[in-house]
Amino acid sequence: MPKVKILFFIILFGFSASIAPANSAVAPKTGSICVKKGESRVIKGVKFICTKSGNQLKWKSSQPKTKTPKPNPGGKQPAQPILPITFDNLDQNRTSVEAKRKVNELFLKTTSVESTAIYYVGPNVREDILIEEKRLLQIGERFFYQYFKPKKFHVLLFSEKDVDWLEANQEPKFRNRSSLKQSIQDAPAWCNWAAATRHDNGELLFYMCLQTTGRGIADKQTSIHEYFHLLQFEYNGLEKMPCWILEGTATFFGVALGIGPADPTGVSADKFLRDLAYNYNPQSVKEIKYPNSTMRDALLAENGPISVMKELEFPTASSTKNCAAWGAYTAGWLATEVLVAVAGVETFMDFLKLTETETTWKIAFEKTYNMSVDTFYQKLSPYLRSRLAN
Ligand SMILES: [Zn+2]
Repeated sequence: MPKVKILFFIILFGFSASIAPANSAVAPKTGSICVKKGESRVIKGVKFICTKSGNQLKWKSSQPKTKTPKPNPGGKQPAQPILPITFDNLDQNRTSVEAKRKVNELFLKTTSVESTAIYYVGPNVREDILIEEKRLLQIGERFFYQYFKPKKFHVLLFSEKDVDWLEANQEPKFRNRSSLKQSIQDAPAWCNWAAATRHDNGELLFYMCLQTTGRGIADKQTSIHEYFHLLQFEYNGLEKMPCWILEGTATFFGVALGIGPADPTGVSADKFLRDLAYNYNPQSVKEIKYPNSTMRDALLAENGPISVMKELEFPTASSTKNCAAWGAYTAGWLATEVLVAVAGVETFMDFLKLTETETTWKIAFEKTYNMSVDTFYQKLSPYLRSRLAN
């Protein structure tokens, strides 16, 4: 008998829908036809008068309709007002959206700029990959133009098949080619790494290994990430910056500008974030703070997020610690995301600029955000857990 029951319900729904218009035709409503001129009726507190309209008689309400709130017994609660993102209200879902929105908003105010990159491209770099990387770099140059206008900078691009070319071509001179060659030969199937550097003469360079098998959506952050490192070099505070700022900010901007437009739902960025969290491996270095643990365990420990952030305060330049193994790319990314979501890109860039002149980056932070770094870590803690330890 179940088939009959299903059929019955379908008919019932069809039936109740079809009788509704018939009922409403009887009750007067504005514009519906009436018979006797001057006749009036009151429906739900609204008076209708049968009035001549053209050569027809139509119901017309004698008073404007006012909406009265419908009773809602046992129904849904009215929607909560959407609270702005603040350091005390770091909504798990909306903070990243808001940060991305602020980046987009600023990007839309910019205009295209002429690239000042000088390219050195290996013969086996795929043409389509080269075009895409140039497009991405232009986004970075345009976005940061008001903060960073290098007269020129060098971009060295090669594939895993370009070892001989790297050896034969030594321009620009300030990069040790044998170390690049060695990196390719160590892992020829893993040619998607990059780094930025500055020569003694002040000239800037970044290089990328572009695997010929192709690149994924997460790789769309790399060019902008490396370009942001060049900006950091120019802001002489680089040596003073902690690991989380150095790598976290470069990753945040690379993701927002490079991956963001190709990732409207944020799913790819979130996957990339979680993939990066696998790099968390502090036990691989001397100081064993979280033996045999993952980033998730570290964050869930009491005051864990604060410890993770404090561990990332070592300056990159003077340290033998590995930024990636201590979670700089993930925790630092989310910390930057929060700063941008709450106070915007311009304020964040002001803070970076201030690190140049202040004695320490912590003083620059406090002056910019009216909050100590430690207080920031506390307010950041639930957000780090919600994004990385769920
Ligand atoms: Zn980096």
